[in-house]
Amino acid sequence: MPELPEITIIARQMNKEISGKRIADVDVKQPKNLNMSVSEFVKTVKGKRADRVSSKGKWLFIKLNPGYFMLINLGMGAELLYFNPDQRLPEKYQFKLTFSDETGFTIHFWWFGYVHLVREKNLDKHKLTKKLGVSPTEKEFTLQYFKKVLTKKKARIKSVLLDQKNTAGIGNVYAQDILFEARLHPSQKASTLSEKEIGSLYNAIRNILNHSIQLGGLAYETDFYGKKGKFTAEEFLIGYKTGKPCPVCNTAIEKIKTGSTSSYVCPKCQKLK
Ligand SMILES: [Zn+2]
Repeated sequence: MPELPEITIIARQMNKEISGKRIADVDVKQPKNLNMSVSEFVKTVKGKRADRVSSKGKWLFIKLNPGYFMLINLGMGAELLYFNPDQRLPEKYQFKLTFSDETGFTIHFWWFGYVHLVREKNLDKHKLTKKLGVSPTEKEFTLQYFKKVLTKKKARIKSVLLDQKNTAGIGNVYAQDILFEARLHPSQKASTLSEKEIGSLYNAIRNILNHSIQLGGLAYETDFYGKKGKFTAEEFLIGYKTGKPCPVCNTAIEKIKTGSTSSYVCPKCQKLK
């Protein structure tokens, strides 16, 4: 599943390739991805110009001029691929958007995803994005903000991190190493974290996510050009490494159940307090 690093990278690449281009046509093969009828969708986007592309958490925001946003969520995973007129299109896709210069992009959802069209003035009413918390790549993600998020939260720290209303963009993949780097057990209650632990966790979130962005994201996800990232299985500190030695103390990594998710922990470095 693409998380913040992968979506950040795609947004940057899309911004570079499509901003300033005029939409000539859209082809929707799976109407349930939309938040309106296909005919209404087509009628609304045709002729509009794509402006800035940005991201928040796991959502892509394409500003359309005049007056709209196209919001894309890749769900459990997808190939969102750029094409130019010389390229063959992928065999499978549910959504295709073509610009007037005959470049464009296709989306092949592995399972399910969204392509929503929202009026700019109604953006803060869009159900699926209006409650998103601040993304760790945004300048608003300060230590102050993070402290406020954690206070009074009785839930396990891992659930708090995964809740998109708190911090948008962290998922089960990167949460593993983030908690390890902060030496925190995933089941520790958020409200019990000390000042020092909050600081370590804040730094770990930024370090781990930025490291992956620098590597081009996860090796099993593709970017806008179909290129795979360089964050391979070896890059993980402890994530998905059951039985392998902890990089700090050599204790065998354990896979444990934490609520509805699985977690990888070093039983010595990440003691439950
Ligand atoms: Zn250890």
